[in-house]
Amino acid sequence: MLAAAWATALAAAGTAAEPIDLERAAATARRAGLSIHEGHHLLLLSDRPAADTAVAELPKIFDEAFVSWCDHFGIAADSLADWRALGCLMTRRDTFRACGLLPDTIPDFENGFCDRRRFWIRQPSSPAYRRHLLLHEGVHAFTLTVRNLATPPWYTEGIAELLATHRLTDGRFEATPIPVDPGDVEQLGRIEAIRSLRRRQSAPSLAEVFATPADRHHRIPAYAASWAAVAMLSRHPRYREAFARAERGLLDSQFTSRLEATDGFDTAAATRDFDAFTAELDYGYDPQAMAIDFSVGPPLAGPRSLAVPAARGWHNAGVSARAGDRCRFRASGRVCLGRLPATAESPARPIESEADGISLEWYRGRPLGRLLVGQWRAAPQRGRPQFERLAEGVDGIFTAAVDGPIFLKINQPPGRLAVAEGSYRVRLEPAD
Ligand SMILES: [Zn+2]
Repeated sequence: MLAAAWATALAAAGTAAEPIDLERAAATARRAGLSIHEGHHLLLLSDRPAADTAVAELPKIFDEAFVSWCDHFGIAADSLADWRALGCLMTRRDTFRACGLLPDTIPDFENGFCDRRRFWIRQPSSPAYRRHLLLHEGVHAFTLTVRNLATPPWYTEGIAELLATHRLTDGRFEATPIPVDPGDVEQLGRIEAIRSLRRRQSAPSLAEVFATPADRHHRIPAYAASWAAVAMLSRHPRYREAFARAERGLLDSQFTSRLEATDGFDTAAATRDFDAFTAELDYGYDPQAMAIDFSVGPPLAGPRSLAVPAARGWHNAGVSARAGDRCRFRASGRVCLGRLPATAESPARPIESEADGISLEWYRGRPLGRLLVGQWRAAPQRGRPQFERLAEGVDGIFTAAVDGPIFLKINQPPGRLAVAEGSYRVRLEPAD
């Protein structure tokens, strides 16, 4: 039998969403020999064996995720205590068709499909990906019924991807909007998809993501780009407040233009920052620490000394150059880029580097800790703008590629910034 709370859901389901008869669905599932797993907000029916503990724990994880979805939209979870969804996890969809749990009116789908508070997912091979799909469809059910969502596809799919992305910590749901570790999001491949688009010079602009047609969302790159746009806009210090304000308003077909008209939202700047995001994206990317100051400082007229902090991404030197200007740089100092774990032979010790970098570990084809000098520029042929590296190491002379600021960065994965300490001192001066 279902708990009494489920019966209440039948009466509460009504206004924005079509009622779903959970008692009847459970009775049908029982007759068809399906397993029934019940949480507070989800009734899950599956043709996996009832003893499959990874399936049995899904409603509990769904309930934990539900609280984070309420938080995201500024809704008190208590006010939705009666919200319930019905999910079907299917290995053989014919079984669900035959007993009426998958109506003929539901179109064929590849991974998952949501119809208001009912959703269906096909059983994928990996437990991590299965949880992701379940939560992705769960976010659709939540936003469709709680927020009456009818937004352009980039937001509809992007928010489902963002709020479904998670890791399990001690068996509990932990939201990781930007994944911290590839092992947490097995088979998901969103970051890899963006990096592959970048390598092929086919990463979309923010405007192209905004214009993604619904049918494109059968393809992984479209999901990845939609996720990337929502992840950047909802986390970047320059946009997160305006984005949250837009999200608390109507989530209708005019959502994109309403967002662009929101106080504090600058489309041109967001387009540039989205390009910087897709160019530098990696596991553990922290939009706050990676935020870039693109302001154009005065020309480099004489010697200038500055600190390049290890805990940040590309750092504006505060001076600009004109295309063709030759500049000299010299770096000194030492930074700490995390710690090597203790082994049987030695205790934990800091990973220290000077501006040449250390060969202990490489990142994006260069030694960890190496000082990079670059400028932000449009792609020479096709593709989106990105940082062009002009020089690297302890010292040298570089030629400015464009009129604009000079940037410096310590080469390391974005996920290391949180544990990196110290800075290099860099002296810049005109070379001629
Ligand atoms: Zn979806």
